[in-house]
Amino acid sequence: MLLSIVVPCYNEQEALPLFYKEITRVAGEMQASHGADFEFIFVDDGSKDDTLSIARSLHKEDGRVRYISFSRNFGKEAGILAGLRAAKGDYVALMDADLQDPPSLLPQMLDTLLNEDYDCAATRRTTRKGEPPIRSFFARMFYRIINKISDADIVDGARDYRLMRRRMVDAILDMPEYNRFSKGIFGWVGFKTKWLEYVNVERVAGETKWNFWKLFLYSLEGIIGFSTAPLALASLLGIFFCLLAFIGILFIIVRSFFWHDPTAGWQSLACIILLCSGVQLFCIGVLGQYLAKTYMEVKNRPVYIVRETEEDQAS
Ligand code: UDP
Ligand code: MG
Repeated sequence: MLLSIVVPCYNEQEALPLFYKEITRVAGEMQASHGADFEFIFVDDGSKDDTLSIARSLHKEDGRVRYISFSRNFGKEAGILAGLRAAKGDYVALMDADLQDPPSLLPQMLDTLLNEDYDCAATRRTTRKGEPPIRSFFARMFYRIINKISDADIVDGARDYRLMRRRMVDAILDMPEYNRFSKGIFGWVGFKTKWLEYVNVERVAGETKWNFWKLFLYSLEGIIGFSTAPLALASLLGIFFCLLAFIGILFIIVRSFFWHDPTAGWQSLACIILLCSGVQLFCIGVLGQYLAKTYMEVKNRPVYIVRETEEDQAS
């Protein structure tokens, strides 16, 4: 039984050695208790610090360590894809390098897959403690909206930290899209997932790569990638404004016929024109977002470009 641990790393020179120490400790325990073999796949996402050289030297010391290094920063989603593609294990775990995903949960996750009829043991954090309230608010909104409008079941507070059976990994790898929104992909492929809960932990070292704006764009990515509801919304808005205009026209005609009331007020007209053209632009923008995503898909560019892997070091 082989377990692959996939770890996307971007500028994690402080956290990576700590992570390695902790994961090998847990791996040792699991070797003894479950007879599990391990491979650790560090995906260096174009880091600008010493992450790559740390991965290289870990590989020299420990044959179980593999690494993939990108030609530039392609984002965590690309790192996840590269790691999953490289993984050879019967079970594949996905975790962050910052120890926010405690390796100590791994034995419990493996037990779930071995003894119960699940394909995936995933984690969610129970609290959003230590997070700015405004961010929590928007995060909740996002989860509520996306679950209403998309097929993919996306769980609030779900982390990417999960252990999957081979068949689920293969299903994920069968999804060829360029715009990869992992939380959506995991939900979309289905399979039986058991949710383990744990309290949020702070990262051990280094700092988070996400700010509010990035998270906002990421959430739009999710909505556009897994739902066409905004397109339907654009049509609905169009119908709504047509109706409104129709009622307004009737009102003006009736008023000038029976009460001979001249229609006055260019200000109100200006407001109406502004409103309608605003809605039109908004809808064109929505359309444009889908077009842009389609454009990127059609180009069929690789999701990432590999610069070096551990195999290059052997030769
Ligand atoms: N990460 C990555 N590429 C990026 C940004 C992040 O591979 O462009 C990795 C990062 O090294 C870490 C994980 O994704 O292992 C999660 O990042 P981070 O801890 O910054 O996110 P947070 O836990 O704050 O959501
Ligand atoms: Mg983190």
